[in-house]
Amino acid sequence: MEKGLRKIQWAEKHMKVLGRIREEFRKEKPLEGYKIGMALHVEAKTAVLVLTLRDAGAEVAITGCNPMSTQDDVADALRDLGIACFAKRGMSNEEYYKALEAVADTRPDIVIDDGADLIFLLHSRKQKVIGASEETTTGVIRLKAMEREGVLAFPVIAVNDAYTKYLFDNRYGTGQSAIDGILRATNMLLAGKTIVVAGYGWCGRGIAMRARGMGAKVVVTEVDEIRALEALMDGFDVMPMEKAARIGDIFITATGNRDVIRKEHLELMKDGAVLANAGHFNVEIAIPELENMSRGKREMRDNVVEYDLGDKKLYLLAEGRLVNLVAADGHPIEVMDMSFSDQALAAKYIAENADKLENKVYRLPDELDRIVARFKLESMGVEIDRLTEEQIKYLTDWRYGT
Ligand code: NAD
Ligand code: SAH
Repeated sequence: MEKGLRKIQWAEKHMKVLGRIREEFRKEKPLEGYKIGMALHVEAKTAVLVLTLRDAGAEVAITGCNPMSTQDDVADALRDLGIACFAKRGMSNEEYYKALEAVADTRPDIVIDDGADLIFLLHSRKQKVIGASEETTTGVIRLKAMEREGVLAFPVIAVNDAYTKYLFDNRYGTGQSAIDGILRATNMLLAGKTIVVAGYGWCGRGIAMRARGMGAKVVVTEVDEIRALEALMDGFDVMPMEKAARIGDIFITATGNRDVIRKEHLELMKDGAVLANAGHFNVEIAIPELENMSRGKREMRDNVVEYDLGDKKLYLLAEGRLVNLVAADGHPIEVMDMSFSDQALAAKYIAENADKLENKVYRLPDELDRIVARFKLESMGVEIDRLTEEQIKYLTDWRYGT
């Protein structure tokens, strides 16, 4: 309890925006009488969100959104603080789904999910909530597909799509924390290495940028011509995985897609190549194919498994799950400060507006997104200019001259 509690307190100290929202929530109690069910990575920053929601009057139950990312000391601290927390590190798949069931069994009114597993479960149980929010790109993609098919049973706020989320969390958060996870797991030098980043979306951009900053040669693989062009003009080499596989020392997937690195690529890789995923669950690297190709495997360090392919050895980090959350602490505190402020405001928004929302995927309202940006700037002591009356007229009135 003590260690987990101190981790939570350390995070609290650096989550200035969420702290400010928490102060308001303590006074206004906007979530009084609501039950909130959460499936998020259970670590210190998430714990601060949980405690913020409780201070707002909610009764909260939480489990992990990934069987490997829970920090047990934090989960224990949450239980000691009276939160129903069902998360444990290293759960089997069965235990993982049982823990999601346990959260659903608390009959939440509002759900906060990361990857949409809990929302899917509620749909399969035909269990309705007044509204939910979704933390990540892949979850939002899946929920939008449900909306298109007309099967989404309640409104969802796509917190991922807020500017104060993806521009910072997916880019700078994943950029720093994926590198952090790889360094902690391997203790290897990045300078001079060739790092292959699969996917030049928000996460991939951040990883490529930070890997270059550490002195690596960065190669990007893409399937989207515009993003490929952007990577090229940002100064990275762009090529198909079939070519990149031959030259990469470290591979980092961040696509939200499956089988991005598969047998045909594994066959071409150099001895000693390191494989890490910072994208989606554990499917971006085709691990069953790697297993089939291997004569044996052994754990070299925590989160580093050597696969013996006969003529060479390949190294898989964090079982192909999110390397930043399994081998490190996930995104830095100051980044999660914004993402989880968005989540806190989304929960309040759902409580206040549920009767007006349809069974659709919504963006976080722009004014809430901007509150988070403004609070963040203020917390950093940064001021910005304001438009003059003349400038507002100039920008809005086409008659106003040239
Ligand atoms: P995004 O949609 O902005 O980018 C994904 C990119 O991958 C796109 O440009 C797409 O064209 C590309 N892509 C798809 N299939 C590909 C393939 N086979 N080969 C190469 N490129 C391919 O998404 P994002 O916001 O960058 O998120 C990516 C994934 O990371 C999602 O699953 C998201 O949920 C997850 N995510 C993880 C973290 C983390 O903490 N590790 C943080 C945020 C998001
Ligand atoms: N549940 C899936 C979904 C991807 S998780 C899986 O585990 O594979 C990706 C999300 O994790 C991001 O959108 C990010 O906001 C969140 N995240 C990253 N670092 C985090 C941290 N330190 N604490 C809580 N959530 C974090």
